[in-house]
Amino acid sequence: MKLSDRINNLEESATLAMAAKAREFKSQGIDVISLSLGEPDFKTPQYIQDGAKKAIDSGLYFAYPPVNGYLDVREAIATKLRNENHIDYQAENIVISNGAKQSIANVMYSLINPGDEVIVFSPYWVSYTALIELCEGKSVFINGGIEDDFKATAKQLEAAITSKTKAIIYSSPCNPTGSVFTRAELEAIAEVVKKHDILVIADEIYEHINFSGDHVSMASLPGMFEKTITVNGFAKGFAMTGWRVGYIGAPKWIAQGCTKMQGQLTSANCSIAQRAALTAITGDLTPTREMTAAYLQRRELVFKLLSEIPGVKTNLPKGAFYFFPDVSHYFGMKNGGTQINNASDLCMYLLETAHVSLVTGEAFGDSNCVRISYAASTENLKEALKRIKEALSKLS
Ligand code: GLU
Repeated sequence: MKLSDRINNLEESATLAMAAKAREFKSQGIDVISLSLGEPDFKTPQYIQDGAKKAIDSGLYFAYPPVNGYLDVREAIATKLRNENHIDYQAENIVISNGAKQSIANVMYSLINPGDEVIVFSPYWVSYTALIELCEGKSVFINGGIEDDFKATAKQLEAAITSKTKAIIYSSPCNPTGSVFTRAELEAIAEVVKKHDILVIADEIYEHINFSGDHVSMASLPGMFEKTITVNGFAKGFAMTGWRVGYIGAPKWIAQGCTKMQGQLTSANCSIAQRAALTAITGDLTPTREMTAAYLQRRELVFKLLSEIPGVKTNLPKGAFYFFPDVSHYFGMKNGGTQINNASDLCMYLLETAHVSLVTGEAFGDSNCVRISYAASTENLKEALKRIKEALSKLS
């Protein structure tokens, strides 16, 4: 017996695989600095943990929640999206899931028929393409290069649309590049979308980690409510990765599709995690803002340290907590018997010799780059960049 073709053909998540590799090295007593996983190094703020404890102690939240999420939590999310994001969602437009990743999976399964095309703004987050493939759809890439701040344009989008296009997907702030679409750029994309019978999946999970000013939601632009699925969650802005709470805001028919899907897959999102999320979303954003201020300081530090490494080319990310430098200068070089042919080789070399884990850009659609997550302490970032610089200097 064998696993299904579906699973055999499925790529393993490169972010999680690299994190597992770093853990494996650590368990052997090797002092690895892990900059591979996009995970805040902060603890979930105390008020959110207290909200969860209160929910447990109340004894009320032990049974299956409604499939799409508790009504009061969906109402609170809709209120946030109306007040902060200027999108006119009601509770019926919201579906709460086990992380934004499941939210995206629900959307893909609800919308994509075999052969449908999804236009992916590249560089892109690893799981988009894997989920599109699982639905037997086809990813069509439009690429933004480092010289364009990694942002593909409305013009490229227009050229990529065919009669098979069902949706487009992007993240802003972007994982892996940290790029942020400006309002004008999003408006230009919206104008193209409105000319066609297609939808937008707008991944806004990094909305709070934006150093460039106000976050702009695609669904808030004129005429875009009916054409947009807004994806968000609690992992990044509230340091709640392990709680697994994501959500969508979407036109009702799509929310219903996602609810049907979720009803067969997970029944609902964990009851206590939802109560914690309610505390987060109705609390004040001071801890979130403090974390963002810390990320900004780290961005400055990493930008400075990266620019001191010969041959490494980077943009200045405007949000999220990633750098996506071009390291192709080192391709073809060697240290002893180790030859670096591509970004994956470079990541393995850095893990083995510098004990720093990064993720290869190949997993995100740009094979000249590597992704560095700077959601780590200043001390670890300084040490990691020192080790990377040293290891790279040994290549010739
Ligand atoms: N979104 C994070 C990352 O890109 C977490 C890991 C994952 O789910 O891919 O590293």
